Amino acid sequence: MNLIWFRNDLRLHDNEVLYQACRNSGNLIPLYVFDPIQHGKTSFGFPKTGEYRLNFLFESLQNLHENLHQKGSGLVLGYGDTVKVIMHYVEKYGVEHVYFHEEAANEETELEDKLVEKLEEAGVKVHSFWGSTLYHADDLPFEFEKIPEVFTAFRKKVEKYSKVRELFPQPETIPSLPETSIRNDKLDIDYSFFEVSPKKPDNKAVLSFNGGEDEALKRLNDYFWEGDHLKVYKQTRNGLLGADYSSKFSAWLANGCISPRKIYHEVRRYESERKSNSSTYWMIFELIWRDYFRFIHLKHGDRFFYEAGIKGESVDWSRNKNMLKAWIEGETGIPFVDANMVELRETGFMSNRGRQNVASFFAKNLNLDWRMGAEYFESVLLDYDVCSNWGNWAYVSGVGNDPRDRYFNIVVQAERYDPNAEYIRYWLPQLNNISTKGIHTPLKENRTIDYPEPIIDLERSYDEIKKRYS
Ligand SMILES: Cc1cc2nc3c(=O)[nH]c(=O)nc-3n(C[C@H](O)[C@H](O)[C@H](O)COP(=O)(O)OP(=O)(O)OC[C@H]3O[C@@H](n4cnc5c(N)ncnc54)[C@H](O)[C@@H]3O)c2cc1C
Repeated sequence: MNLIWFRNDLRLHDNEVLYQACRNSGNLIPLYVFDPIQHGKTSFGFPKTGEYRLNFLFESLQNLHENLHQKGSGLVLGYGDTVKVIMHYVEKYGVEHVYFHEEAANEETELEDKLVEKLEEAGVKVHSFWGSTLYHADDLPFEFEKIPEVFTAFRKKVEKYSKVRELFPQPETIPSLPETSIRNDKLDIDYSFFEVSPKKPDNKAVLSFNGGEDEALKRLNDYFWEGDHLKVYKQTRNGLLGADYSSKFSAWLANGCISPRKIYHEVRRYESERKSNSSTYWMIFELIWRDYFRFIHLKHGDRFFYEAGIKGESVDWSRNKNMLKAWIEGETGIPFVDANMVELRETGFMSNRGRQNVASFFAKNLNLDWRMGAEYFESVLLDYDVCSNWGNWAYVSGVGNDPRDRYFNIVVQAERYDPNAEYIRYWLPQLNNISTKGIHTPLKENRTIDYPEPIIDLERSYDEIKKRYS
């Protein structure tokens, strides 16, 4: 009897865990566990898995269940402490082999360690694999402790010395479950376990964001082949409006509905069949950023979550509740920040350009404790990925891997990436009648609109940033 513990690898394609488990004889239990660790509260009190992500997760699990069902199996759901749930199945069915994918951040690796200890005590053979990155952990040209702190050095080395592996084939059939309790293809979720209710993103979202492997592969096909957007990705990727300025793969990647290697090999096929240019390369470049944050987490462990970050940078952060609330609600009185925050609140998604700006505004202009911002993102983002989120937040806040001390000039950024203020007006329709020239200080043009006064003097805050970091 074998058991797969599904985690952020909710797919059949390029899944080494599934591939290896199916090669072993005997029944197989594909198990997913809802653990309070992921469904409780963050330290500043946000739901760890917010409503949009919960919905995306349910859809992804439903799709995994259907795909397993088609091949003769189905997904079993467990609720509670992961180790206890898995040990329950081990004892009940006499499981001899457990398979799972390893994660990179410390809460997840600690859980793995606890599980492995219990399984080994019970005489169960553990098969764990690395499968979430483009480059396999074993193929890196350095030890984890020696991973370069600066992205460019990391990228150049992996590009030169490492090779992306081939995909694992999908199993033709999957060994059946020990009991035929799962007869239908509808997953039976116990909603009473969760403190938040699943919610679909608002219709104004850049995409409808349907979870699951089938939808991930469909998006890959639409973005690369049907829409032919890959060839201009480098020029469009800093966009703010619409489905196709960037790939929107992130939520599927975060849940493992698509493997980064699958995207990589599809880019290579596109390059040989259609076009190879700096845009096609840039998609791979961005996936290397994702790898980098995972591997750098392995190097630094829980230091990524410290107030002073991996840099040990001591900053006198503020925890002003009113400022935090204004930022979350999109009521800072700075239209470019507010438009992005409203998009996030209503849809669970925000562009990379938006994320950089609102995070910089949060940590640099407002001088708010960067961990509060990172935790809010953790709660709300559809594509929350512990390494990418905390790594990027630390980076932008000046406590991570950015070798330079930088901040974003919000108005300059808005003028560059939203020159006609279309994005601002899309999310802040109360500013529809304000001229593009006056859009960043709308109350100066019309005092009667329903829009707040700025919570800070932006220009003065730049002087303060310069003083603070000089
Ligand atoms: C403060 C902040 C928080 C972030 N939090 C997350 C998060 O929780 N989860 C997440 O997946 N990304 C996060 N990002 C990175 C980036 O914003 C998103 O990956 C990207 O916007 C997702 O859109 P896309 O799939 O269309 O990206 P594309 O531009 O199409 O890029 C393709 C893929 O490359 C990867 N990628 C691109 N940029 C980055 C980056 N800077 N860091 C790591 N990987 C990247 C993603 O997997 C992405 O799906 C964060 C960035 C910032 C500045």
